[in-house]
Amino acid sequence: MIYKNDPDLLRGFLEDTSNIQTGHTPGVYFPETSGEVASLFTDRPPAVGSYVVAGNGTGTTGGRIPFGDHVISMEKLDRIGEPVPQEDGTALLTVGPGALLEDIQNKTGSAGWLYPPDPTEKLCFVGSTIANNSSGARTYKYGPTRNHIARLVVVLPSGDTLDLPRGKYRAGPDGRFRLDLPIAGPLDFERPRYTMPRTSKHNAGYYSAPDMDLADLFIGSEGTLGVIVEADLRLVPAPEKIIACMVYFRALDDLFRFVEKAKSREGGVRPTALELFDANSLEFLRGVYPDTPADTAGALFFEQETTASEEDGTLEAWFELMESCNAMTDESWVALDGREQRAMKAFRHELPVQVNEWLARQSETKISTDMAVPDDAFPELFHYYREVCRSHGFRYIIFGHIGNAHVHLNILPSNHEEFVTAKALYEGFVDKALELGGTLSAEHGIGKLKVDYLARMFGEEGVREMLRVKKTFDPGLLLNIGNLIPKDYYRTE
Ligand SMILES: Cc1cc2nc3c(=O)[nH]c(=O)nc-3n(C[C@H](O)[C@H](O)[C@H](O)COP(=O)(O)OP(=O)(O)OC[C@H]3O[C@@H](n4cnc5c(N)ncnc54)[C@H](O)[C@@H]3O)c2cc1C
Repeated sequence: MIYKNDPDLLRGFLEDTSNIQTGHTPGVYFPETSGEVASLFTDRPPAVGSYVVAGNGTGTTGGRIPFGDHVISMEKLDRIGEPVPQEDGTALLTVGPGALLEDIQNKTGSAGWLYPPDPTEKLCFVGSTIANNSSGARTYKYGPTRNHIARLVVVLPSGDTLDLPRGKYRAGPDGRFRLDLPIAGPLDFERPRYTMPRTSKHNAGYYSAPDMDLADLFIGSEGTLGVIVEADLRLVPAPEKIIACMVYFRALDDLFRFVEKAKSREGGVRPTALELFDANSLEFLRGVYPDTPADTAGALFFEQETTASEEDGTLEAWFELMESCNAMTDESWVALDGREQRAMKAFRHELPVQVNEWLARQSETKISTDMAVPDDAFPELFHYYREVCRSHGFRYIIFGHIGNAHVHLNILPSNHEEFVTAKALYEGFVDKALELGGTLSAEHGIGKLKVDYLARMFGEEGVREMLRVKKTFDPGLLLNIGNLIPKDYYRTE
């Protein structure tokens, strides 16, 4: 197996987009088969301690950053199969974990299929998106990655390879899973007993539900239970046509009303995505796109799938909705073909680019939230974010997945003093979201960055239940230690 330890190469594996800068590793393995991944556990020399799995480093929470662990890179396991049509009208696509999401979407798209998960960042590996149960704009209609995984193959820290087509292992009525593996032997454990929040997106801690499928435990477990070495993705037929629109509003109340009406499908609209750009986000974009309307309270991006014969009617329904909510219809941007839609995507993607460039000029790091709340609590969280930021005089933007009551607040400190103040306030944002029945993370996961907040959401007992599951699969504590579960819990258990 390829193993590398030259310092220049290692440096690339000590980072993701979390800005954690203290990682270190003795070396990186590049397995080319799932057998080689298994051999890293079965033939592990005593000098090799624990491992951390690396995707492509676009994660925001430090999940792949090693702290003395050896790294297992997924980049050579990049196979993308051919779509295999199924009787129910969907298709299955077998992929390796190191396949780029962008390559998968291009390949399936040109064959007339859609793989719905679409995190804004396309340069991620599909295995990571499964390990993180990633989601994105289209999650409003299609749900997170979890909903599109038909089968997983996982190498466990015992060296066992677990093939998990959906339905093979389910939790019994007593909440327990029972399996018998060639190397690990019999495993018998209970799913965590906590209840999941009432949000439409949630990605913090192990998934748990009555009668759950074992595959769902691994999806979103952030690489703490095993290494995903293969997956069957469920594809749906690509839509015949898509309507996309950036619509601007002078008043926030109108914008919120529009979201409510779109979500309740007033007039027959059926959004695939509903994304917010607040006035401060638009100000950033105006620097690159000077035609972006000024004097607005914010904008919404929406998308709907349609057909050529229904396109006019669909557009009419959206325009009526815009009129009924006093939208700035004349200034809005409608994209009806692929070229315009790519231009609109580039416009939306420019926001993180501009923000990162601005931050680089201040030499500071942003404070960024990823909490979601139940729909009815969203306005309260939104106004709370704004009031706190305004009262401290922070520069900030609020943007993202308003359809799922999940927006990102980014505080952009101008100096280190502001950074320290904002970091201290983050805890208050978490508490506010939890008090409203929300989740600590809706999509980016916990990684290493947010481990200290997990017990705030699940209580110490909830974290211990996760640890019991972790130790069932990884009793020697060999994999992704420090991710998801705080290290202190390993010491006290
Ligand atoms: C500009 C920007 C926008 C983003 N937008 C979104 C968004 O809209 N929605 C969203 O959900 N995320 C978003 N992200 C976050 C990020 O893209 C996702 O979390 C993605 O899944 C990370 O993929 P990666 O290959 O870069 O993983 P890495 O950062 O390399 O790793 C992420 C984690 O996955 C684990 N892992 C990787 N491969 C495996 C495997 N095969 N088996 C087990 N564990 C594994 C790693 O150990 C690590 O814990 C965004 C990031 C950026 C920079």
